[in-house]
Amino acid sequence: MKLRTKLSLYSTLSKLIVLVAFIIIVPLIVSIVSTQHTDNRLQNMKDKVIKLVDKVGIKEFLQEEEDSVYADYNILKEEYIVIEATEKVIPAVQFENTERVWEGGTVNYRVLNVTFIYGGHLYLLEIGKSLVLVKELNGVLQKVAFFVLIISFAITILLNVGYSNYLLRPFHMIIEKKLKNVYHPEKFNFETIPTTTSDFIYLDQTINEMMRKIRDAFSREKEFISNVSHELMTPISVLQTRFENMLAEGRLDEETSLKIIESLKTLNRLKKITNTLLLISRIENEQYLKNDNLSLKSLAEEVFSEIEERFTEKNIEASIRFKDDFIFRSCNHDLLFTLLFNLVNNAIKYNKENGKIFVNGYYSGNNFVLEVEDTGIGIPLEQRSHIFSRFKRLNSNSTEGYGLGLPIVQTIAEFHDIQVFVNSEPGKGSIFKLIISNTDKNNS
Ligand code: ADP
Repeated sequence: MKLRTKLSLYSTLSKLIVLVAFIIIVPLIVSIVSTQHTDNRLQNMKDKVIKLVDKVGIKEFLQEEEDSVYADYNILKEEYIVIEATEKVIPAVQFENTERVWEGGTVNYRVLNVTFIYGGHLYLLEIGKSLVLVKELNGVLQKVAFFVLIISFAITILLNVGYSNYLLRPFHMIIEKKLKNVYHPEKFNFETIPTTTSDFIYLDQTINEMMRKIRDAFSREKEFISNVSHELMTPISVLQTRFENMLAEGRLDEETSLKIIESLKTLNRLKKITNTLLLISRIENEQYLKNDNLSLKSLAEEVFSEIEERFTEKNIEASIRFKDDFIFRSCNHDLLFTLLFNLVNNAIKYNKENGKIFVNGYYSGNNFVLEVEDTGIGIPLEQRSHIFSRFKRLNSNSTEGYGLGLPIVQTIAEFHDIQVFVNSEPGKGSIFKLIISNTDKNNS
């Protein structure tokens, strides 16, 4: 789940919890406050009634005939007062909630009960106030709170999504502009991401600093390899000439001559490795021009005619299958030849007797795909990430090669902004995929 979705969800959920709590608590508070308020009103009414009794006498309240009960109900039955003679003393004012049945309907009342003495007799005063209004108010408040919840929920989601988008924009810019598609430390984008959030400024600066260190280490390594390879070439050539001269003079016995021939082979191997390393560092140092326009189909044909003999040696059936041709503009012909040659050469090396090799070319969306497909031994999944590392020879059975073929492929591909992918099934074969973006400069 994306960070902004998580943030919006978290924030919305926390607000939702607060709102739900609010909905539960509001009626409770309303009920406490209204009960308090009703009790106060009942107390006031009690005081007034007792004052009135003191002033006008109890006879005014009690009817002549019955002489003991007085009852007064207002027309909507919202309030009533009852005075009656009693014998049971209520020491302090009492409040209770009770139900009264009126003409078929039940009404809830808050009732005050108190006893008082008048003229030597004990009387019970009961004042009731209907709770219908309080209940109605509670219902209305709950509905309002519910609508407020729904509306606030919708507004909160919109605001949260908008705000997290705005807040996290620099973070996404760092990912999009800097971290995605970093194939090469030298192609890293060091531009400062505009933001006022100090955490993102820190993140941006730290990534830049880290990438500078990586780039510097990479340059130092490149320079070192370039210097070492260059320096090694002279002594190798001197030794080679010396050995060749010794052989040419013909004064050596057979055993020594054989040893010299073996040494020459080793020297040759060393020379090839050094040359390859020099080639890689020259490509990395951009010492090659890119001023050729090249048909990839004819490049495949060129590689096939160069390597044809090796197909026959292993009885391999090889074919070029291009749905469309592609003209690669502003490229280096020799380097692309080496790239394709190395892939086809590996497809032969790691193929089985009577195997097959296909070089496919087709458009896939906006890209052109060049594939080298073989029916060889395949590459186990755990080895796939190492095959482009220098000197990694994963198939020790093969006597050819030094583990530098694929690193060259990778370096030439990077130099031409080509992406390389490998699909493979051990025992069935491999496909090396080159993805070339079909930009304005590259089109057929
Ligand atoms: P080399 O072929 O000299 O060993 P490469 O750099 O060309 O070096 O290849 C590295 C490793 O990748 C090889 O040792 C081999 O194990 C594996 N590999 C490369 N291409 C293929 C292929 N077409 N099929 C199977 N394995 C391959």
